[in-house]
Amino acid sequence: MANGIVTEAFITAVRARIPQVRLLTDPVDRASYQRDETTYLASGLPGAVALPSDTAQVAALVRICAEYDIPIVPRGAGSGLSGGATGIEGALTMAFTAMDRILEIDRDNLCVVTQPGVINATLKAAVAGHGLFYAPDPASFETCSIGGNLGTNAGGLCCVKYGQTRESVLGLEVVMADGTVLRTGGKNIKDVAGYSLTHLIVGSQGTLALITEATLRLRPAPPPRSTLLAFFPSLEAAGKAVAAIATAGVSPVTLELMDQLVIRAVDDMHGLGLDREAAAMLMVESDLPGSAADDELTRAEDACTASGATFTVRSQSPAEADLLREARRAAHWALERIGEVKMEDVGVPRSRVPDMLRAVQEIAAKHEVRIGTFGHAGDGNLHPDLILERGDPRAAEITRAVQQDLYRAALDLGGTVTGEHGIGSARTEWLEPQRGGDAVRVMRAIKTALDPQGLLNPGRVL
Ligand SMILES: Cc1cc2nc3c(=O)[nH]c(=O)nc-3n(C[C@H](O)[C@H](O)[C@H](O)COP(=O)(O)OP(=O)(O)OC[C@H]3O[C@@H](n4cnc5c(N)ncnc54)[C@H](O)[C@@H]3O)c2cc1C
Repeated sequence: MANGIVTEAFITAVRARIPQVRLLTDPVDRASYQRDETTYLASGLPGAVALPSDTAQVAALVRICAEYDIPIVPRGAGSGLSGGATGIEGALTMAFTAMDRILEIDRDNLCVVTQPGVINATLKAAVAGHGLFYAPDPASFETCSIGGNLGTNAGGLCCVKYGQTRESVLGLEVVMADGTVLRTGGKNIKDVAGYSLTHLIVGSQGTLALITEATLRLRPAPPPRSTLLAFFPSLEAAGKAVAAIATAGVSPVTLELMDQLVIRAVDDMHGLGLDREAAAMLMVESDLPGSAADDELTRAEDACTASGATFTVRSQSPAEADLLREARRAAHWALERIGEVKMEDVGVPRSRVPDMLRAVQEIAAKHEVRIGTFGHAGDGNLHPDLILERGDPRAAEITRAVQQDLYRAALDLGGTVTGEHGIGSARTEWLEPQRGGDAVRVMRAIKTALDPQGLLNPGRVL
């Protein structure tokens, strides 16, 4: 593992060999790159922060880091929830925010070529101007970058129909740990030549290569969405409805869940008039055209009612559907108004959602803490948010105890300790319990083969 630190000699070498590159060395500037959204995790102050503006600068920086044995922390917008972009003491953080150009929107091949620093919402808006749609839709889409989405294989609200980020990637341009620039794919829809390096690098959290360009799949823009809200007297009933919707052959664009604590927090923030006595709510969206959307939501509604929903309501207009989606996206911030929140990210097979919801309640009772759960129930991916009193001196201890129980419960149900946020530096000790020693050994072999010096985001994931 590389263990050098940024020195005057390193800074002089960078300034001499890549005079165009922006390099931040002031401690105040560096401090703003120390953490991501996992403020509770230990982190180090970067020795310097580089803001390259093209691939050649990235490759040159990697070569100089190799020469001085300095670890590199790749960073997008820093909205990550697994500590993947937090600083390493004395290392170089490479922030991709200045590589923020959309290079080509190709209507004929339904794809977009982009640099990694482009914000997800900016890319969506740019392609929408051409009647096209970029599907990956993390709730943080207005702040997170495409590079970070690729680094984490981000999920979000419409994976249940369109899949995680990886399913929208056709090819990458990357800089490897020895400074080599390579392309892993291009505009071909079908391409099985050799190992899929694209799929390997997406989700590797900056540990295998630095992504400098991506060719992403687009779709013709679907019609505006219609929304169904269904309220349930118990979490189990809502969990049952999730499975019932899937087995009814309904494939909605969004199938999200909120428990009572989250319903009330969101309602307090937005004044939507939600059923505050309900134990859980499902939000189902359709993006099918015209009456097909009505049919889809009717079938989803029937499945909800058969599973015990006490009340259902539909959006009256696309604007109302957008408002409801925005409210769901803001669930985490709504909980932040109550206390200090730690967001978790467990996943289980869809049929085990009711069991996972029950386990979350038991864990909250055992530790005498409040946990508000929301998430992408259609993917079996739940975000139990631990809510602590601000300034609670036992925060770190409680967080750790609750996390351990949540991860154990997810694994016991055949699930995962992270559905979309990543192992990062937050969950490394849980990789082997989930994947097994042999799989981790193979992962380490890949890491060693591609980055023998351990330059790229060392200590993260593995
Ligand atoms: C309120 C809130 C809601 C969220 N909702 C969702 C959600 O619905 N779904 C979801 O998946 N996530 C969600 N997230 C988490 C986060 O927004 C995503 O993980 C996002 O993909 C991170 O993007 P970023 O640009 O902020 O990346 P960063 O946090 O800066 O980095 C993320 C990882 O990618 C690596 N990386 C960044 N750029 C590159 C690059 N160019 N090359 C190689 N590696 C790179 C970093 O090293 C790091 O490991 C949410 C976060 C918040 C705060």
